[in-house]
Amino acid sequence: MTEAAALPGQPRGEVLSGPATTRTVNVLAPNPSAMTLDGTNTWIVAEPDSDLAVVIDPGPLDDAHLRNVVATAERMGKRVALTLLTHGHPDHAEGAARFAELTRTHVRALDPALRLGDEGLGAGDVITTGGLEMWVVPTPGHTADSLCFHLPADRAVLTGDTVLGRGTTVVAHPDGRLGDYLDSLRRLRSLAVDDGVHTVLPGHGPVLDDAQGAIEFYLAHRAHRLAQVETAVENGHTTAADVVARVYADVDRSLWPAAELSVRAQLEYLSEHGLI
Ligand SMILES: [Zn+2]
Repeated sequence: MTEAAALPGQPRGEVLSGPATTRTVNVLAPNPSAMTLDGTNTWIVAEPDSDLAVVIDPGPLDDAHLRNVVATAERMGKRVALTLLTHGHPDHAEGAARFAELTRTHVRALDPALRLGDEGLGAGDVITTGGLEMWVVPTPGHTADSLCFHLPADRAVLTGDTVLGRGTTVVAHPDGRLGDYLDSLRRLRSLAVDDGVHTVLPGHGPVLDDAQGAIEFYLAHRAHRLAQVETAVENGHTTAADVVARVYADVDRSLWPAAELSVRAQLEYLSEHGLI
């Protein structure tokens, strides 16, 4: 779920279905839109020498796509053994129950309402299916239930909607909160700086090979937008809709409803910090 489809200075790589790192393959869902960029990236993650795979974000309820994910895993010589969700937005999670039925897998997610089976998902959990080592990183902000997955062997992090391959993400107020989101970006930056993560495998848009650069860009963009919102309020634009018209004038109007959620999150943040 994007807030701005393209920003100056950002990479504009193509999104392709296929291998991205040694342990990951993307299957692009056929749901492109202003909000989902090229469509949802459904990730298959597996150790090369294992016959078991994990699928992250089956995507929308589109039977052909879900079957294509299963078939892609089979062509790789693997059986899907577990389904994970980065968060509950329908473009990532709507197809999960049907996918679980097709693959007879459990669905693990932070939000209990999204789970199928008795296992949750949260801080400190490690996914070890088929010999994988994939760490769960809580990253609230886009939504309260957002998670990322750190794959140290590929020096990669699967980011869902927390970091996108292009544009910037929505802080979906009131569920998403800006203070949480900034903390989550800093957590991801420390994965890049301290743990050597290079590659961002996003929920939408192309793979990014400079994780630290992408996360620094997001932090700088957030600071810039926050300053713009603060100035707009000081100039008398006090409602969220007014602030959007002022601050997001350069963004396609189809994205304004999403931008308004982010503005509400920013107004809340500024008010909580005594800045407006
Ligand atoms: Zn989302």
